Amino acid sequence: MQYLSTRDKNLRKSAAQAITMGLSRDGGLFTPVSFPSISALEVEILCGMPYRKRAAYIMGKYLEQFRPEELNLFTKIAYGPDKFDHPEVAPLHQMDKRTWCLELWHGPTSAFKDMALQILPQLLSASLRMTGEKKTACVLVATSGDTGKAAMEGFADVEQTKILVFYPENGVSEVQKLQMATQEGGNVGVCAVKGNFDDAQNGVKAIFSDEQLREELAGRGYFLSSANSINWGRILPQVVYYISAYCDLLNAHEIKLGEPVNYCVPTGNFGNILACYYAKRMGLPVGRLICASNCNDVLTAFIRTGVYDRNRPFHTTMSPSMDILISSNLERLLFDLSGGDDELVRTYMAQLDQTGRYEIMPEMKKRLQEVFYGGFCSEEETSASIKMLHEYDYLIDPHTAVAAKVLTDYRKETGDKTPAVFVSTASPYKFCGSVLDAIGVPPVAGSLERISQMQDVTGVAAPARLAALKGKAPRFTAVIERENMVANVQAFLG
Ligand SMILES: *Cc1c(COP(=O)(O)O)cnc(C)c1O
Repeated sequence: MQYLSTRDKNLRKSAAQAITMGLSRDGGLFTPVSFPSISALEVEILCGMPYRKRAAYIMGKYLEQFRPEELNLFTKIAYGPDKFDHPEVAPLHQMDKRTWCLELWHGPTSAFKDMALQILPQLLSASLRMTGEKKTACVLVATSGDTGKAAMEGFADVEQTKILVFYPENGVSEVQKLQMATQEGGNVGVCAVKGNFDDAQNGVKAIFSDEQLREELAGRGYFLSSANSINWGRILPQVVYYISAYCDLLNAHEIKLGEPVNYCVPTGNFGNILACYYAKRMGLPVGRLICASNCNDVLTAFIRTGVYDRNRPFHTTMSPSMDILISSNLERLLFDLSGGDDELVRTYMAQLDQTGRYEIMPEMKKRLQEVFYGGFCSEEETSASIKMLHEYDYLIDPHTAVAAKVLTDYRKETGDKTPAVFVSTASPYKFCGSVLDAIGVPPVAGSLERISQMQDVTGVAAPARLAALKGKAPRFTAVIERENMVANVQAFLG
């Protein structure tokens, strides 16, 4: 399989090159030239496999360069019992007769980012070997909270890599901050940036397009790489769990082979839901894709009107991983919806850059609305959603709560009775303050004390690694101005 840039479809790279580079030099995102299909027979075969085998099989369709034994080894390591605290890796929790919750937070950092970031370092290492790259990969990450920790956990002490994480000073939860500040490993660095997530992300993007810095670093034996969801190696492992969840529903006799299932995904950078779209493009019987946002509702407006307009107030919410006004991966969707029109994508991205706004063509909008539904959820509704599901004996985090609420809205508005899966992207224990508030228990002081408090109140066990944060001393405490991010990279690489 070859990969092209969304901004220049004549630029072709192998999977190994695409994963090594992260972002194309022209600013575009690497996208497969076509979508391999997954037949009904293959879905039946996958039904008989454990998660790690399903993952190796599905990823193999996009990574012919990699040997099957190699992929099987990678997935065995990435999704093994020492990493994931659930034998099914990504289990479904049944809510009612036609609703399930897909739990993607059983990995080492208790957020769905682990699903991809446990395997990305191995894909990158193998890609470095295949491309004969001798320089050390300096992985730069802008994070709204979960990516940074999950990436460091995946890359810690991986040979020929260094990883530096930037997060918005006031844009992540206390537990997220602590998780990052206490990260172990000789090749990791963490830095808070003044501003919001978009500031941090734009800072990293600017570093990637800084030719002078690139040359300077090359001279010192480094090249820049990305673990953000712009990297194909992040998107691909996420395609797996949508197919895997479908298999699990078949195995449980909840659906018949070929019957459509809707997926509702709490969305920020548009990576997770894009992976679901790609699963649908492969032929998985996915009905509607429901894109759930918090009160940063730029995607809802886009899906409903065809106008993307980031000129709106930025809200800091209790679901910080969705506090995003520029959803990078939307570019890949635009490319596909336009039938691979790289020139059009370039135009839209230039407009976004210059005016913060673009409007897609009517045919694209029609296709968009056939597949996607967009909805958003206020802070009060997010709390109410947590409270309601808690009354049904199921504890969820604010991101998941947004998805649950938007799915309910979707069903009310459309009357669609298709079986549906909403995606749970973080353990409720990553956001104890908001969850306790929502269920009517005044949180005690101290984010770690709240973990014990929530355990006592709800009787739901906290993930062991979060509970173990107690007593760990922070290693990283720096806070910098956005203008100093380049200097920070230089200093980090010594
Ligand atoms: C990253 C993240 C999201 C958003 O996912 P995208 O792929 O960026 O759309 C949602 N919830 C949680 C908990 C996350 O960490």
